[in-house]
Amino acid sequence: MDEFSLIRQYFAGLTGPQADVALGIGDDCALLQPPAGELLATTTDTLVSGRHFPLATSAYDIGWKSLAVNLSDLAAMGARPRWCLLALTLPEADAQWLSGFAAGLGDLARQHGIALVGGDTTRGSLSITVTAIGSLPAAGALRRAGARAGDLVCVTGTLGDAALALRQPGDAALDERLNRPQPRVQAGLSLRGLATAAIDLSDGLAGDLGHILSASGVGAEIFANELPVSPAFQRLAPPDAAFGLQVTGGDDYELCVCLPEAVLAQAREQLALPLTVIGQLTERPGLRFLDAADQEIAFDGTGYRHFA
Ligand code: ADP
Ligand code: MG
Repeated sequence: MDEFSLIRQYFAGLTGPQADVALGIGDDCALLQPPAGELLATTTDTLVSGRHFPLATSAYDIGWKSLAVNLSDLAAMGARPRWCLLALTLPEADAQWLSGFAAGLGDLARQHGIALVGGDTTRGSLSITVTAIGSLPAAGALRRAGARAGDLVCVTGTLGDAALALRQPGDAALDERLNRPQPRVQAGLSLRGLATAAIDLSDGLAGDLGHILSASGVGAEIFANELPVSPAFQRLAPPDAAFGLQVTGGDDYELCVCLPEAVLAQAREQLALPLTVIGQLTERPGLRFLDAADQEIAFDGTGYRHFA
């Protein structure tokens, strides 16, 4: 199968027509119609086989996750996802793999009303780069730099599930969290105008919250016993490893948001997910984790880093 029939068969009709797409796959460029007055939010992420997903990951899950990690970035900015592009490098044109991959990416795209509008297809070691584009009113953007001392630090959902699944696979609920993360798009949209800062948790709470702290010029105290856990994590995480998995484990794709206490109730009302307060921002710089007795937990880890 040549590159053009591959694109036609698996990708050209993957997502339906959309009012904000004037021209989709098949020409030199796609032509897109952003809503009048909004800013575009753009992001791109590459998934490399063996590094961002285990070699045994199904084609469906790889397709799903390659879009999900990008939608998570749009969610963390408060953007509405609209379009995506797919740069695919494949060792061979395996029909079964391609249909599984396209189904995973297509299912998530349709869930969020996103059009696949273009990409590139080449031969080589398996690597997937998705570019996602969304839009938002300028005043609604959830930047990393807007947090203030006194703001509460909150997270959506639960922490540590994906890292636990990576360490000990086999539990269906945990494996699903690792392989089919649900980007918190609705939460990001609901937090426009309420959150002072937000980031998505892809590399672990300590490292990712650290980015908000340095961008905003504040510190934080986080209460280790307030970190939200799923029932599966509660049951299966080894007690001596639980804290490390929750604060340095990546891949949860929850949102970490800062907001003034005065808007907490409103934020919770608008969110379809639990929003847990895990700590507070401080004038004093640095990130400190406190135990149940308010004693600082010795901790030097950050998040996952490439080239470290
Ligand atoms: P060009 O030579 O202009 O880069 P290509 O032959 O690479 O064009 O691609 C032809 C059309 O198919 C373009 O519209 C491109 O955006 C789209 N395309 C190529 N690969 C993919 C892919 N993996 N997924 C979606 N669209 C793709
Ligand atoms: Mg090309």
